[in-house]
Amino acid sequence: MNTVDQQHIWHPYAKVPNEINAHLVSSASGVYINLDNGQQVIDGMSSWWSAIHGYNHPNLNKAVVDQLGKMSHVMFGGLTHDPAIQLAQTLVELTPENLTKVFFTDSGSVAVEAALKMALQYWHNKSQINKHKFVTLRGGYHGDTFGAMSVCDPDNGMHHLFAGVLPKHYFVKSPSMVAMDEALDDLEATLNAHSDTIAAMILEPVVQGAGGMRIYNPQYLTKAKALCDKHQVLFILDEIATGFGRTGELFALEYVDVEPDILCLGKALTGGYMTLAATITTDEISQGVGTLMHGPTFMANPLACSVANASIELLLNSPWQDNIADIETVLNIELSSLRLHDKVVDVRILGAIGVVELTQEINVEKVQNQLIEHGVWLRPYGKLLYTMPPFSISKQELLLITKAIKTVIEEL
Ligand SMILES: *Cc1c(COP(=O)(O)O)cnc(C)c1O
Repeated sequence: MNTVDQQHIWHPYAKVPNEINAHLVSSASGVYINLDNGQQVIDGMSSWWSAIHGYNHPNLNKAVVDQLGKMSHVMFGGLTHDPAIQLAQTLVELTPENLTKVFFTDSGSVAVEAALKMALQYWHNKSQINKHKFVTLRGGYHGDTFGAMSVCDPDNGMHHLFAGVLPKHYFVKSPSMVAMDEALDDLEATLNAHSDTIAAMILEPVVQGAGGMRIYNPQYLTKAKALCDKHQVLFILDEIATGFGRTGELFALEYVDVEPDILCLGKALTGGYMTLAATITTDEISQGVGTLMHGPTFMANPLACSVANASIELLLNSPWQDNIADIETVLNIELSSLRLHDKVVDVRILGAIGVVELTQEINVEKVQNQLIEHGVWLRPYGKLLYTMPPFSISKQELLLITKAIKTVIEEL
C-alpha cells in the first residue's frame, strides 16, 4: 500500500482517503499487468475498453517515440500536422459514408459534449431555438461531465446527486430492458409529444456499457433512426466503448449499417495509449453548425494522433474478426452454463464482451483480491462481473479469466 496514494489521491468513483487500496503497478506488457509486489495479472478489462492490443506493443511504442522526436504537442488553433490529417482521413474512410467532418477532443466525455453542442447549435442556427432537449435510453452512460451526465441513466446512482442541477431530458425505455417494440413505442410517443423541443437522440449502439453492460437488438437502431428522421431529431451514436472491433463489427452501427448524424469515438481509438476522442459529423450538419466555439488545449495532440494511426493500422492488418469471434466462442462455452447458477441472474456475451449479472452486490475488494490470486484483473461493479479482454489474448489466458470468474462465483 502506498500511503501518499491512499491519503492524497482520488481514484475513479472513489473517496479520498481511498477505502479500497489501489494496487501499485510497475509495468505492463502484452495482456499482463505487473504489480509492484511481483504478482502478475491478466488484464480482463483492457483498461476500460481501451487497450485492445495489450500493453507495450512495439508498433505503438514506435509511433509514440517517432512522433516524440518531432514534437509532442502544438496548439491546434491555426496550426495543423500530419498525424491529425492522417487520422481524420482514416476515420472518414472507416465510418459511414455520410460522416466527413472530424472534431478531435481529449476525452470521451468531451467528445459527447461537442456532439451535444453541435446538435443544439445546428437547430439554433435554423431558428429552432426550442430544440434544446435530448432524448436518450435508460441504462445509458455517456461520461461524467455535465452535458454527458445529463444523458446518463438518471436512476442508476452514478450522478444521482446532481439531479437537481442537471438539465432535464427525455429518457425512454431501453430495448436492452424491454421488448424492442415496447421500446420503440415509448420513443415514438415521446417524439410525438415533444419533438419540437428535442435536438437529438443520443445512445450507445447495441451495447450499453458502464450504465449496466446490457446488449440489445441492432434492429432497434434502424427503427429509432427512422423515427428521429421523421420527427426532425438528430441521431447521435456514442461508440466510445463499442468502437474498433469490440462487439465483433468494427463499429457496432455496422450491424445494421445505420448512418448517424453524429458519431463519438474514444477509448480504443489510441489502443489505450493516450487520451483522445473524436466527434464526427456530416457536411450538412457541419455547415449548419458553422463556427463551433470549442477548442481543448490539447486538441488533436500529435502523440495521441500518431499512436491512434498506428493502433488502427495494427488492428486492420490483424485478423481481428477471427480473434474476436474466437474470444466470443470461448466466452460462450465457458460462461453460458452460469445462467443455471442460483447466484446468477443473467449472462450476456457479444464479441469480446462477457458479462455475468449476479443476484447480489459484489464485495469489490474481496472479489478483486480473489481474482488477483487467480492471476486475473477485473473490476466488478454493482452486481456485475465482466470481462472485455485485449483482442490479442490467447485461449489459455482467456480460460484463466473465465475460470477465475466461475471460481469467485462459487465462493460468493
Ligand atoms: C467511457 C465512455 C464515455 C466517456 O469517456 P471518457 O474518456 O471516460 O470521458 C462516454 N461514452 C461511453 C459510451 C463510454 O463508454
